[in-house]
Amino acid sequence: MSSTEIPVFFWFRRDLRWEDNAALYAALSQHDGVQPVFIFDENILKALEDKDDARVTFIWDHVQKLKQSVASRGGTVWTWFGDPVAFWESMAVRFPRLIVYAGEDYEPGYPMVRDARVAKILKAAGGRLELVRDHVLVAPTECSKPDGTPYTVYTPFSKCWLSLLHEERLSSKPSENYLHRLATGLEGPEVRNLEEMGFVRSSIKVEAPRLDENMLATYDKTRNFPGHPHGVSRLSMHLRFGTISVRALARKARDLNLTFLKELGWREFFIHVLYHFPHTVNQEFRPEFQRLPWRHDEAAFEKWCAGHTGVPLVDAGMRELNATGYMHNRVRMVVASFLTKDLLIDWRWGERYFARKLLDFELASNVGNWQWAAGTGCDAAPYFRIFNPTLQQEKFDPEGVYVRRWVPEVHSSTYPRPMIDHHQARDRALEFFRSVQV
Ligand SMILES: Cc1cc2nc3c(=O)[nH]c(=O)nc-3n(C[C@H](O)[C@H](O)[C@H](O)COP(=O)(O)OP(=O)(O)OC[C@H]3O[C@@H](n4cnc5c(N)ncnc54)[C@H](O)[C@@H]3O)c2cc1C
Repeated sequence: MSSTEIPVFFWFRRDLRWEDNAALYAALSQHDGVQPVFIFDENILKALEDKDDARVTFIWDHVQKLKQSVASRGGTVWTWFGDPVAFWESMAVRFPRLIVYAGEDYEPGYPMVRDARVAKILKAAGGRLELVRDHVLVAPTECSKPDGTPYTVYTPFSKCWLSLLHEERLSSKPSENYLHRLATGLEGPEVRNLEEMGFVRSSIKVEAPRLDENMLATYDKTRNFPGHPHGVSRLSMHLRFGTISVRALARKARDLNLTFLKELGWREFFIHVLYHFPHTVNQEFRPEFQRLPWRHDEAAFEKWCAGHTGVPLVDAGMRELNATGYMHNRVRMVVASFLTKDLLIDWRWGERYFARKLLDFELASNVGNWQWAAGTGCDAAPYFRIFNPTLQQEKFDPEGVYVRRWVPEVHSSTYPRPMIDHHQARDRALEFFRSVQV
């Protein structure tokens, strides 16, 4: 980029890849000398409790990989630690008329406010922020009911969503073919290590994304069994940070397994719901449930967090989460039901704990699924559908493979008795939810 050219930047966010990156493609197919940037956002990082947060290490490693893979062409990715608004303010002074490309972010609250502020700053400098749909197949504004209002129930949403998945929408945006148009040799900021930002390396390792066609082909039969070695994709973290393209994944799923494609639909359904109903981030979607007198029992909550409830499937799930930052979806449903229905503990406590621990933490999916499990969400399991953790284990981990992996002492005398009798807890939960019905 020389001073006579329009300065063009590409801002990596939820799309940490060179391939099939729609916003990067938009930038490179229209401009020469595009400078990529990644901002370690202090507003997000300072809220993280664990200094060895695995997500920060994951992002760090991926940004280093991005840099290394263009170094031979003389390109690089600028890295900066601080407030993105301040960063773009300073860039707008250095490069008037700058154009910044980035993937669109639909998360209400901080991300959307940040983008609006950056857009205003760039506009004032004679430039612009170009946001491009990338991390979803259908943006929340592109799918609505015939009367124009947003969907609140998954099945009709999914019909609309599937009907929009035509060839063009799923096709690759081949940004990787234009990398020769990246800027070379432009001096810029660099974060040298994790410690500079107050973090240390996590010991949790994350596997590279893998599009396993055998897994996809049988996904509908294997996805509910947490002990199955290849029953699910484990791609959620890669979808979260865009280290895999959702279009590439959807194309495979369309050809190999419609059930898997529909799971991607759940992801987008929750993004759609949070975008249109931002209050659900911490309030029950259904007003009558905002009156529920949740128990705030810290001792019981701690047992749940640590995986010491005496309920094998719940303990296995929580220990898997604590050790790896991942938990199988079937088990997430069981532990969430146990916390909110058996223990009557506020779903927000569980949601926050998951937010701290899950590598794939995604606000929309987390809040949406927690409200689903608690029975308080827009498209929730009805409150009287309460998971029996023992029956769930009999059905989905019949040989106890998963439970023994995480709770090896399950059959020994040291393993505690269940902290609550499920049948009594179920009756209490029904009473609890009925108490606020009109
Ligand atoms: C209480 C609770 C909290 C959750 N919190 C999150 C979260 O913070 N982030 C997150 O990505 N998922 C969340 N999920 C959804 C789901 O459990 C994970 O997406 C899934 O387990 C990730 O593993 P996988 O990639 O192997 O999934 P697979 O079974 O291989 O599914 C493929 C992809 O489909 C999507 N998907 C599947 N099920 C769901 C679902 N129920 N809701 C939304 N997307 C789905 C994910 O993107 C997933 O990667 C939560 C579920 C529950 C019950």
